[in-house]
Amino acid sequence: MKQECLIWIDRLKNGQTQKIAESLNPSFLDTNEADLKFLAPVQIQGEAYLTNEELILHLKASTKANLPCVICNELITIDLALDSFYHTQPIHEIPSAIFDYQELLREALLLEIPHYVECNQGKCPDRPAITPYLCSNKQQKQEVHFPFSDLGDNHGSTTQ
Ligand SMILES: [Zn+2]
Repeated sequence: MKQECLIWIDRLKNGQTQKIAESLNPSFLDTNEADLKFLAPVQIQGEAYLTNEELILHLKASTKANLPCVICNELITIDLALDSFYHTQPIHEIPSAIFDYQELLREALLLEIPHYVECNQGKCPDRPAITPYLCSNKQQKQEVHFPFSDLGDNHGSTTQ
C-alpha cells in the first residue's frame, strides 16, 4: 500500500523521469479531528527526476473532504487541491535511495484545508441564531467581574 508514494532514486539515474499517476486511499490523510473526513481517493499526477545533486518532485493532487459548517455544524464537502506541489531533496539526504513523499504530500494537503467553512456558500441559514448566543456570551464575561467587587466589599468590612 505505502509503496505508492515511493521513488527509487536508482531508476532515475540515467536522466529518466518517473511519471506519477496514482489514486491513493485517503486514509493516510486522517487527522485526530473527528469532524474532518476525507471522502475521495487522492488523485496525484506529476513527475520525479534528478538533477546532478537533487531529486525534483513536481505534483498535482486533489481529493474531497467533509468538514462541519462553523455555525450549524452541518457537514460540507469541499474540494481540496494542490495545483503545483514542488519539492527538491538533496540526493545525499536519501541514503536508502528510496524517497517516500507521502508525509510531504499529506502535510501540503492538510495545509490547504480552510480554518472554517460555512454551508450554503457562506450564507448559513442558521446565521441569525448565533447573534443571541454572542450577546449572552458578552454578559457572562461581565459577570466574571462581580466576584472581584464582592471581594473588595468583604475586605472593606473586615477592616472596619
Ligand atoms: Zn451552516
